Amino acid sequence: MRLLIAEDDQVLADGLLRSLRSAGYAVDQVGNGIDADSALAAHEFDLLILDLGLPRLHGLEVLRRLRARGSKAPVLVLTAADSVEQRVQGLDLGADDYMAKPFSLQELEARVRALTRRGLGAASNVIRHGPLSFDATGRVAYINEQMVELSAREIGLLEVLLQRAGRLVSKDQLVERLCEWGDEVSNNAIEVYVHRLRKKIEQGNVRIATVRGLGYCLERIAA
Ligand code: CA
Repeated sequence: MRLLIAEDDQVLADGLLRSLRSAGYAVDQVGNGIDADSALAAHEFDLLILDLGLPRLHGLEVLRRLRARGSKAPVLVLTAADSVEQRVQGLDLGADDYMAKPFSLQELEARVRALTRRGLGAASNVIRHGPLSFDATGRVAYINEQMVELSAREIGLLEVLLQRAGRLVSKDQLVERLCEWGDEVSNNAIEVYVHRLRKKIEQGNVRIATVRGLGYCLERIAA
């Protein structure tokens, strides 16, 4: 899951970055509307957290351009407490949810989970594949209902594979979904993460198949 935060209040942005990263999301941040617009035009994100009061280009314009390009990425708008009008404008322009400042990080995380889930068309917070399940609320994975200890990176990797279970996921897709700008994650590093994740989850009858030269596929092993 790759998220973009467009927020010029650096203290708030740092708090968001910390909490979302520790939940296993790959998160990038921009501090003005122009940078937000270019980032959104160049990359595909699973969710945009958009402050409306951005310098250089207003958040509503960033949103309007995003939707004009045909992007359906979920957008969570952040507004000042008193700006009902902007909230309404934001929703009219295609925002999916909003939060008025100040808000609790806990609530924001809950909304992020709901929106990213909706983006995938899933109704529940739990993704299942054979004996493997992933609870997006606590960001915890289970094999046969036994919790598996995973690092934030491994959780992120497992989530991407589970969302596309049974289908091929290329290394480039994994790099795009798991890595932030400035993150020097090579295809080799992806191999290392996959290797570690395999050792932890392949005790159940699922496996991460390597499709040589192409990528990976999370499969169920027939009993
Ligand atoms: Ca602002």
